[in-house]
Amino acid sequence: MPIYKAPVDDTLFILNDVLGIERYHNLPGFADVTPDMTAAILGEAAKLAEEVLFPINLSGDQEGCKRHEDGSVTVPKGFKEAYDLYREGGWLGLAAPEEFGGQGLPYTLHTAVGEFMSASNMSLMMYPGLTQGAIAAILVHGSEEQKRAYLPKMVDGTWTGTMNLTEPHCGTDLGLLRTKAAPNGDGSYRISGQKIFISAGEHDMAENVVHLVLARIEGAPDGVKGISLFIVPKFKLDASGEPGERNGVSCGAIEHKMGIHGNATCVMNYDEATGYLIGTENKGLSAMFVMMNEARLAVGMQGLSIAEVAYQNAASYARERIQGRSLSGPKAPDKKADPIIVHPDIRRTLMTIRAFNEGGRAFTLWTALKSDIAHRSDSEEERRTADDILSLMTPILKGVLTDKGFDHAVMAQQVFGGHGYIEEHGMSQYVRDARIAMIYEGANGIQALDLVGRKLAMNGGRAVMALFKEIGDFCEENRGDEKLSGYTKALKKGLNDLQAATMWFMQNAMAKPDNAGAGSTDYMHLFGLVVLGYMWARMAKTAEEKLAAGETQRADYLKNKLITARFFMERILPETELRKIRIETGADTMMALDAAAF
Ligand SMILES: Cc1cc2nc3c(=O)[nH]c(=O)nc-3n(C[C@H](O)[C@H](O)[C@H](O)COP(=O)(O)OP(=O)(O)OC[C@H]3O[C@@H](n4cnc5c(N)ncnc54)[C@H](O)[C@@H]3O)c2cc1C
Repeated sequence: MPIYKAPVDDTLFILNDVLGIERYHNLPGFADVTPDMTAAILGEAAKLAEEVLFPINLSGDQEGCKRHEDGSVTVPKGFKEAYDLYREGGWLGLAAPEEFGGQGLPYTLHTAVGEFMSASNMSLMMYPGLTQGAIAAILVHGSEEQKRAYLPKMVDGTWTGTMNLTEPHCGTDLGLLRTKAAPNGDGSYRISGQKIFISAGEHDMAENVVHLVLARIEGAPDGVKGISLFIVPKFKLDASGEPGERNGVSCGAIEHKMGIHGNATCVMNYDEATGYLIGTENKGLSAMFVMMNEARLAVGMQGLSIAEVAYQNAASYARERIQGRSLSGPKAPDKKADPIIVHPDIRRTLMTIRAFNEGGRAFTLWTALKSDIAHRSDSEEERRTADDILSLMTPILKGVLTDKGFDHAVMAQQVFGGHGYIEEHGMSQYVRDARIAMIYEGANGIQALDLVGRKLAMNGGRAVMALFKEIGDFCEENRGDEKLSGYTKALKKGLNDLQAATMWFMQNAMAKPDNAGAGSTDYMHLFGLVVLGYMWARMAKTAEEKLAAGETQRADYLKNKLITARFFMERILPETELRKIRIETGADTMMALDAAAF
């Protein structure tokens, strides 16, 4: 059976020692965030994750969701009880505003907790995950009346939320969408059309489901300029604000899919359902983007979370599985063979996943902290600078951590040999579950195009230049420190590759846009490697300082951190050069074959 232990200590190291979140006590919601309180929250979250959510992960995968004749959907055994505990613990509203029943704590803490929960049971955590995205969109674009009507029940998890973009003929290109909205004359609309692949679209864990639906108002322009966003509740609210009459929305089918079996992926039919406009007519896409940006960070975190649980299982298996002898002589002479963890190739696998996970955790929390600053600081300058980095990092975090999350789930499965392919060990589930994170919330190829096509040039390249300067300054400031020079040298080399690739795009992509498309995925990964390298250099600096200051309690942990930092710098970061070379070859060969020749 699979195992999972939430990485509480590593998360605390990043939050307290590397990012120093206590320093942000002036931000709303941060005042009480002391190391003790952070440890208490993470400890409780770990308990819920390990003891409640994790034990029903594998059974949830095997059982899946069931749709009944009447269109209702039942989630796997144990999910409702576990969701109730999650809801009652106030976890859904941890970072939501207090005026709607949330706790107003940092989004950074919410993200830290989210990793534990998602690693334990990604399918189950998608129900509240989508609710959080819907809450964010209503908070930013909803009317006061809509906020009062929907948010308190969504924040406490009594009602869940969904996002409805995709239609059978329309996925990435939302300009093609056909779902219609006809005005009723009383401010509401009749919504008709079909949405597919709707996560958490129907289930039996909540009293109501609040669908956020993209549709085109009659007479609106074609393309993305004619799309509006609507709230379509499963049950319309009665005079007292409680779920009343059933609305004209139903689940026509649930998809039979590769993974996340515990999450109901639904075909949703809208048959003159009553909907209420959120925000301005024809500005639905920007309202939905609030939700999608939040969701993209959460999906990046899903990639990390699955890679972490897969890693823990692979490491445990490698310590126990006896096979072959160490190249440098027997390590377990009393046994007929050594545990496979003695083999360098198994070490390569485990160290690679570990280095990405610990770096990815720092990357995720650093980005989440930027989100807190961007949304909560009272200084306009601070908000702007943080928002620049947040916008730039969103496609990188989503794309890199989910591409790697899947690769690393496969690598962890490989450590099990044939046993990884057998369902009962759980490794197959991790591979299957991790795969979707590369696809939804904008397939990763689209994240790469967003980075190269929009984010790089945003505000005249202000964000990218600020980040290059921050990383460059870090290398410069620590250049003379003998203990850190190995890390900063490698990081500087990676930064040089990134700057050269960025310059190449500037010179070669404007005149020939295919060059941008051809290099975009490599660029996203090149950028991700440098940011991970920056996280590793900062973690190494902190670990060196703590050890030099005589910290004994965590000495082993800190020494292991430094070994992993060196591994990242030596064996992973140099990939930046290969990525740069690929980018600089441009699009010519890639585009040369006739379509019919493929
Ligand atoms: C399990 C699951 C859950 C989902 N949950 C939801 C949900 O809750 N709500 C929702 O609305 N949707 C949901 N989706 C849909 C998901 O977001 C889409 O599948 C995804 O956005 C891709 O759209 P598509 O499948 O139509 O692929 P397409 O848009 O047809 O794309 C196919 C491929 O072409 C690439 N491509 C497309 N256009 C371009 C371009 N211009 N340049 C370069 N490459 C391009 C894409 O990257 C992709 O690799 C879910 C999907 C699944 C499978």
